[in-house]
Amino acid sequence: MPDNLTPLNAIGEFALINRLQAGLTLRQPGSVLGIGDDAAIIRPTAGMEQVMTTDLLVEGIHFDLSFCPLRHLGYKAVAVNVSDVAAMNALPTQLVVALSVGPRFTVEAVEELYAGMRLACEAYHVDLVGGDTTASRGGLTLAVTVLGEVPAGQAARRSGGQPTDLLCVSGDLGGAFLGLQVLEREKQAFLADPETQPELANYEYVVQRQLRPEARLDIVHELRELGIQPTSMIDVSDGLASEVLHLCAASGTGARVFSEFVPLANPTLEAAAEFNLDPITCALNGGEDYELLFTVPVTDHEKIKNHPDITILGHLTDKADGANLITKTGQPIPLKAQGWTSF
Ligand code: ADP
Ligand code: MG
Repeated sequence: MPDNLTPLNAIGEFALINRLQAGLTLRQPGSVLGIGDDAAIIRPTAGMEQVMTTDLLVEGIHFDLSFCPLRHLGYKAVAVNVSDVAAMNALPTQLVVALSVGPRFTVEAVEELYAGMRLACEAYHVDLVGGDTTASRGGLTLAVTVLGEVPAGQAARRSGGQPTDLLCVSGDLGGAFLGLQVLEREKQAFLADPETQPELANYEYVVQRQLRPEARLDIVHELRELGIQPTSMIDVSDGLASEVLHLCAASGTGARVFSEFVPLANPTLEAAAEFNLDPITCALNGGEDYELLFTVPVTDHEKIKNHPDITILGHLTDKADGANLITKTGQPIPLKAQGWTSF
């Protein structure tokens, strides 16, 4: 360990928490008390319902520190939770972080992780109000729990979709999966020859989609401005196919997704060509794009059709029709969930 780095066991838990706390500010009016007591104090806003969600990230299962910088990991850990809050049509307010770190980590490494979380807290206007810290015999485990709020009655469940509702998605898909392919390839090249320099310059977009996804809180705000109440919503963490099937199962509907409308960015198309992968398959079965997939009544078509960052992919149908991808030639192909599994 270089001299300028501090082993975790040199400073103790309280000093570590003190250092992690530096630079954190509370912005939300509902954050009455943050880090430092036995529990945080939160004041809910009148007329709002609260949503709460948690995600557990385990080294070697959900992330690989050989190519994921700790700062990015911290940002992503917050972003993926905020994405779940956004998928309820809610805005995040506070979060807590539980951390378990092995002996190979230094104080500075944990501070890097927190620097990323702090950036995400600023970006999403959410307050880090507490957590827990323990040693581990192995690697790094990180659990983030986020609280959010939504005007009473306006939360978007997965179950509210109706046949004929338009099926919409924000942004573009498949990029994060291709970013992972690029990073895995560079890692193998590095393991074979540590002298090689990673060739990431041409893949900036897809790598960034993998390492530093953004939660689409902007879409939640814009839907409100457009006066649109999504009838159902989910975030795209496991690939489009799996998320469409979740909405259909919960709503008791089928769906038609037109393959020609699946939004793909140019860098995604280029990377897919290079890896000899079908970009539509990457969008359907790849993971971690963290876009929002939602349905709106067909009467909202005018409000949404010209939005530059929302694509109408198709529509819900009667359950009996099943959930299908409709090819350019009009052929229906049943959607199958082949999303990520951690097991
Ligand atoms: P307790 O023994 O009651 O669990 P701790 O000493 O673990 O208390 O925590 C003291 C304070 O520091 C609490 O407010 C807790 O929320 C906060 N805290 C502990 N670990 C972290 C962490 N990793 N990130 C943010 N806050 C933390
Ligand atoms: Mg504790």
